[in-house]
Amino acid sequence: MLAQPPRIKSSLGREIIAAPLKPNPGRQFRPPPYMSENKPFKLAGVMGMPVLQSRSPIIHNHWILEHSLSAAYGHFPVQIDRIEDAVRGLSALGFAGCNITQPHKLAAFGLMDQVSPLAQRIGAINCIVVRANGALHGFNFDAEGFIQSLRDERPAWRASDGPAVVLGAGGAARAVVCALIDEGVTEIRLTNRTRDKADQLAQIDPRIVHALDWSQRHAALEGAALLVNSTNQGMYGQPALELSLDALPVTALVSDLIYVPLETPLIAAARARGNTTANGLGMLLHQAVPAFEAWFGVRPRVTAALRERVLATF
Ligand code: NAP
Repeated sequence: MLAQPPRIKSSLGREIIAAPLKPNPGRQFRPPPYMSENKPFKLAGVMGMPVLQSRSPIIHNHWILEHSLSAAYGHFPVQIDRIEDAVRGLSALGFAGCNITQPHKLAAFGLMDQVSPLAQRIGAINCIVVRANGALHGFNFDAEGFIQSLRDERPAWRASDGPAVVLGAGGAARAVVCALIDEGVTEIRLTNRTRDKADQLAQIDPRIVHALDWSQRHAALEGAALLVNSTNQGMYGQPALELSLDALPVTALVSDLIYVPLETPLIAAARARGNTTANGLGMLLHQAVPAFEAWFGVRPRVTAALRERVLATF
């Protein structure tokens, strides 16, 4: 016999009869943790457009399960003209916080009650933490994720190893440049297709960051200890980055922030000639660590099991 459907009153006072409850002998209903435990439930997610391709829910939900937290992390596709409504709703809905990805990184910055000094220098946020009083605190954890991704591949890496060449001057390049300066790099050769943007970014510290024309990118590799691609060239749907690696020492570490695909033409070419390489997955995984800690109070670890789980989605 079918169980009686629940009778519920709508907010307008009308009675709503839910669909009949069907017996489901093969499968048992498992209440989500927040229904079975008397613990506060915490919610977080990633806002962007498009955003369904983001692997962040896989990463955070893996840690939520690992630490038996009463929490969940989801995708939130937010149209460009709705970002203010969405961000302002976080506190009312009881969110612990949210990641912010393109195209909202700059707009969300302007909606914060407080912004960390590093995010202030980078000029963009990628994480919002909702404080107990409802205040919104903006952070940028891309810089931390980037440095850790280099150390994963070369544990002895030091920014003082030699000159760094950074390609690009968008949001990711800003995080990379700030991260390298904070790590003690003494020279950054910065080149971008649009020269003006490289000049602007070099103002962060003109003693260290030297802007070059895009046509100088090949020669800029002479004597470099680190090469970072922070353009979108080589990303799925984009042409390969046009760059001759002839002048790059084989001892240089080559980082490509792109993670779709994991092996860009730049990473493949660098590895083939003997350079150590770091793809964008490490940065993605490691930027998530401080965000998770800020929301849920536990510092998670980037393990082989987590990597495998994310890699299985490519
Ligand atoms: P962005 O702000 O839109 O910047 C895009 C950059 O690519 C700009 O420097 C742009 O140069 C350059 N570019 C675009 N088309 C080009 C072309 N045809 N030739 C040469 N350069 C070109 O994007 P973003 O947020 O900085 O992201 C940049 C890359 O980093 C993306 O591939 C993104 O997926 C990756 N990323 C990875 C992570 C991670 O966790 N692994 C995090 C953030 C970003 P112009 O200034 O001339 O337009």
